[in-house]
Amino acid sequence: MLKVVKFGGSSLAGADKFRQVRTIIEKDPARRVVVVSAPGKRFGEDHKITDLLYLCYAHVQYGVSCENVFSMIRQRFTDLKEELGLRVNVEADLDAIRQKIGEGISQDELVSRGEYLSARLMADYLGYDFVDAADWLCFSLDGSVDQEVSYERLRMLAGDRRVVIPGFYGIMPDGQIHTLSRGGSDVTGALAAAALEADVYENWTDVSGILMADPRIVENPRCIARLTYSELRELSYIGAQVLHESSVFPVREKGIPLNIRNTDAPEDPGTIIREAFPAEEEVSGQLITGIAGKKGFTIITVTKQGMSSAVGAFRQILNGFAKYEIPVAYTVGGIDCYSCIVEDQKLSTRKYAVLSDIEKNLEPDEIRLTEHIAVLAVVGRRMAFRQGSSARIFRALGESGVNVRMISQGPEELNIIIGVEEKDYAPAVRALYSICV
Ligand code: ASP
Repeated sequence: MLKVVKFGGSSLAGADKFRQVRTIIEKDPARRVVVVSAPGKRFGEDHKITDLLYLCYAHVQYGVSCENVFSMIRQRFTDLKEELGLRVNVEADLDAIRQKIGEGISQDELVSRGEYLSARLMADYLGYDFVDAADWLCFSLDGSVDQEVSYERLRMLAGDRRVVIPGFYGIMPDGQIHTLSRGGSDVTGALAAAALEADVYENWTDVSGILMADPRIVENPRCIARLTYSELRELSYIGAQVLHESSVFPVREKGIPLNIRNTDAPEDPGTIIREAFPAEEEVSGQLITGIAGKKGFTIITVTKQGMSSAVGAFRQILNGFAKYEIPVAYTVGGIDCYSCIVEDQKLSTRKYAVLSDIEKNLEPDEIRLTEHIAVLAVVGRRMAFRQGSSARIFRALGESGVNVRMISQGPEELNIIIGVEEKDYAPAVRALYSICV
């Protein structure tokens, strides 16, 4: 049995957190491969090490002394070493980094040092071997991960050993350090789990899994116990953020379950994510797995007489968005009209350019904008082919006085997408949550 376990920055913020991590690891001998982030915030106004490293680089770029920022970073790591009574020579590592800054270090290399030092400390603390991500996580020239080479290298390096690996970075073909996008240690953990064909990939963070609804709107929402990879994609597409998106692909590809756990509440089972669940594990009667959503959408509705019978009209509308590189989040259609739902942030300054493009190429009768829309996704694998799911959802919204402005449901019935006015967003989430539990 092998468990690859990844601990996020909040789980490594200070010495007490390191102690909690060690207790968790020692509790299960299968937890042999540990991936770590850089230390995060210890309290509200504290700084994440990675943010400090970016700040340090910005100082150097603008020719301002980075001494103060660097000494904050130094202090965090030397405090950790001292409080945990470790022997690893992080002082020498820190000196080497400081020297490299003076010689012109790349941004990626500098910001990767948070994970590097964190892993060096954790390896010493656990008595595990340190395996540098730069020795196995290989990027191709286009910046994508070369899975075949990386997996092979990690298998050779890790073998059956107990190891600690820094997350977030790897190496380019020319030997330069390259980082993943922010939160990328999740991806390192998933790649390590896939490479070593782990039985489970545990992702330890500061929440007990993925919540059924936004806790800023619903008081104490329940955690989702079982989630499929497709449901996770649906929920994260529209706003639920627990994991780095790309961390799903490597483990999903290999059929490895992903378990999100809480370092502060290790007895909580968290959320388990798999491709599918056997019927006997399903909770009968529960249709909805979770609700996610966000504000800040515009519905652009294009109407033209006879358009539904014409060939290529829809494509012309989509071409307008594609030309200005604006992703269309959802589309719905009626007779002789199509609506595209677009995030305001993505539309921003190109709004009039895209509208005039559609105007010129399609010559529609009308283009109407409906602004200040919130979109909600009601997700549930068990909704498929069950009579009455939609009836329950829309009854709950109607009884709460929410006016539904847009509905979209695919034939897969994995989700129902609902557009409401922004002022109705919170009441809609609460109404939907009330029928979840
Ligand atoms: N430390 C990096 C960040 O803050 C990567 C990670 O934590 O996953 O984005």
